[in-house]
Amino acid sequence: MTARNYREYLAENRLPTIWCPGCGNGIVLKAVAGAFADLGLDRRKTAAVSGIGCWGWADDYLAVNAFHGTHGRALAFATGIKLANPELTVVVLMGDGDGATIGGNHLIHAARRNVDLTAVVVNNYNYGMTGGQYSGTTPRGSITSTSPLGHVEDPFDLCALAAAAGASFVARGSVCGGENLRDLIRRGLEHRGFSFVEAASVCPTHFGRKNGRRTPAEAFRWLRDHSVSRERAAGLSEEELRGKQILGFFADRQSEDYGTRYRKAAEHFRGEGESS
Ligand code: SF4
Repeated sequence: MTARNYREYLAENRLPTIWCPGCGNGIVLKAVAGAFADLGLDRRKTAAVSGIGCWGWADDYLAVNAFHGTHGRALAFATGIKLANPELTVVVLMGDGDGATIGGNHLIHAARRNVDLTAVVVNNYNYGMTGGQYSGTTPRGSITSTSPLGHVEDPFDLCALAAAAGASFVARGSVCGGENLRDLIRRGLEHRGFSFVEAASVCPTHFGRKNGRRTPAEAFRWLRDHSVSRERAAGLSEEELRGKQILGFFADRQSEDYGTRYRKAAEHFRGEGESS
């Protein structure tokens, strides 16, 4: 495949986006378009599937096939699309509320089945679109519109969850490093099987503002200061790592994907049927 310009994959006639100034979504959108461009994907054979939430608008800004599903169900729709059209490259665009809280059950089963999809989950630690409620990744102690006294639950580590559920490719990047994120998404797209890429991000309007970070710059600074690479993390104590998230790879292994197994089973059955 020949590398192309990322702008070929953007629906520029729909820009500017509806996202708030300083939101991390634009950086992830560029990383997704960049990864498509690096691989020179055929736009007619590429599909973006989204759910509901601020990041769920992303498929509107991509010049590829798109399916906008219901809240938390993007992976279920994407599974059907991929099984019926195995020649398509299918990327699933979800937020932490959509993809890992309301849609948590679909996430663990898509990972367990190893469906050949690339999930790009933007984690901004709250439900941004609906007013800043806490999600399954909101850090303990954080203020949100549904935890005004401080959140009492512990958050999911999304990468640990996806890897434990069986995802064969798992990585985390951050909107503080857009080019690195592009590289992770490209590698996820190249991977055969379920690939899960978490993009740690910022929601300055809700999560940032409610937690004392009054500007997008302060929200980005917080994200940068609370992230550490796997290499650096290896030399830090448990105490030093408390409250920090680790960036890098958490799984990268080969395992036959669900669609291939399913088609083999169907062929086997048909073959037996013919011979009997
Ligand atoms: S509410 Fe938050 S996540 Fe949604 S567009 Fe605004 S800053 Fe981004």
